[in-house]
Amino acid sequence: MNDFKNFINGQWVGSDKTFENRNPVDNSLIGLVHEASASQVDEAVRAARAALTGPWAQLKTQQRVDLLHALVDGIERRFDDFLDAEIKDTGKPHVLASHVDIPRGAANFKVFADLIRNIPTETFPMDTPDGGRALNYGVRTPRGVIGVVCPWNLPLLLMTWKVGPALACGNTVVVKPSEETPATATLLGEVMNEVGIPAGVYNVVHGFGPDSAGQFLTEHPDVDGITFTGETGTGEVIMKAAAKGVRPVSFELGGKNPGIVFADADFDKAVAGITRSAFENSGQVCLGTERVYVQRPIFERFVQALKEKAESFKLADPYEKGMNFGPLVSLVHRKKVLGYYEKARAEGATIVTGGGVPDMPAPMDQGAWVQPTIWTGLPETSPVIREEIFGPCCHITPFDTEEEVIAMANATSYGLAATVWTQDLGTAHRLGAALNVGLCWINSWFLRDLRTSFGGAKQSGIGREGGVHSMEFYTELRNVCIKL
Ligand code: NAD
Repeated sequence: MNDFKNFINGQWVGSDKTFENRNPVDNSLIGLVHEASASQVDEAVRAARAALTGPWAQLKTQQRVDLLHALVDGIERRFDDFLDAEIKDTGKPHVLASHVDIPRGAANFKVFADLIRNIPTETFPMDTPDGGRALNYGVRTPRGVIGVVCPWNLPLLLMTWKVGPALACGNTVVVKPSEETPATATLLGEVMNEVGIPAGVYNVVHGFGPDSAGQFLTEHPDVDGITFTGETGTGEVIMKAAAKGVRPVSFELGGKNPGIVFADADFDKAVAGITRSAFENSGQVCLGTERVYVQRPIFERFVQALKEKAESFKLADPYEKGMNFGPLVSLVHRKKVLGYYEKARAEGATIVTGGGVPDMPAPMDQGAWVQPTIWTGLPETSPVIREEIFGPCCHITPFDTEEEVIAMANATSYGLAATVWTQDLGTAHRLGAALNVGLCWINSWFLRDLRTSFGGAKQSGIGREGGVHSMEFYTELRNVCIKL
């Protein structure tokens, strides 16, 4: 059995308060997680503060870049350990974790290490009122101690998406992984020590949100900025905590993303694309499409084709060959998702497929499995269409005109992502301009160039991360003006 300890100042720190980490495939016990106390979180923040002026701060940019590359190599050397840890925590398919979660988790360090080596700052020569000259130039300095609060759906990938740029910019971090998925953040501590990242630069504190490590970290006055990915409601609580001391936040929050299929779309590609966007990672992707809009001439055919795809998933042990659909992350989350399945039924939705719990053989019958589910026939006002479910499900609504679908797609308090399927260039550009989202994919979904911006409009987030955009949050930009 594993023991998941806190990682503070390069040391493993236990706690007398532990909680269980269970595998959602069969609810078996993976290990015990050591819940950090308020004083241990304080210890981690103090270690991070001290590291800001220690050996880490003395490194030349190239040395920091080299260390981050060594970290990538370190993760790759222990690829199978990371893979195993992530699969046990989440139950996600081996094929997905080995092609997305772990490689991207490592790549995040490489991308930002390379970026920091190449990024310019602005320069403005100016004429001065006395007839002379002056030169302005920007200097970027680390923001300081960054609190990193993470969700459970892509644990390593979303954590390093924040820790990568934070460290590349010279900050130090205290990470609070999700209580559901503590393993890969803990394992990364081992790699940090193996490759020689100075003590205190990367710290991990385990626990929950309220009255636990999440709250202790985000309320800590010596944290200089908080980057958070998770639910919008949690973001509201964290924003209040950050208000004290006027600390900046970077938020990647919830979504209720539209998938829009026009009648002129390449039908097979659109079906394959929406199959991914609705069901990948068992629907537990913030960018996923739980609202699908299909133009009326192809509506019936599309619903039938998506049904066939949903019914062809192989639900099995993550290591079984051909397995491509895992359980939800926990029994608690399954209860929430099944609540929406029930609500859809009660509201009179047509259940095209799924709608319940699949029949799994023992011991997987103890796991957090749900059926991939498709509904039609609900009004746009239904909570099933308005609220984020975060499960493998979607509702499909027919539409007639471009104006109508834009209005329906934008009628939400969220604004994270959209995926649009059409062969008409004009439609593509018009939708790209009209959809009120941070990310709009045309004829694709979750196709990411890490140099581009990532984040949400409206209640889906604050700020943008990715490429140079990450510099806005992870550095302070100082203007130096020299009178010549
Ligand atoms: P969550 O908000 O429940 O938890 C996220 C993290 O916040 C966890 O580590 C949790 O312990 C911590 N937390 C909870 N309450 C807290 C509090 N009061 N103070 C401090 N920390 C607290 O989210 P989740 O269920 O883990 O993740 C799913 C959610 O994340 C979905 O809403 C999804 O859309 C969103 N998400 C968004 C993105 C994005 O990029 N926009 C990416 C992935 C997930």
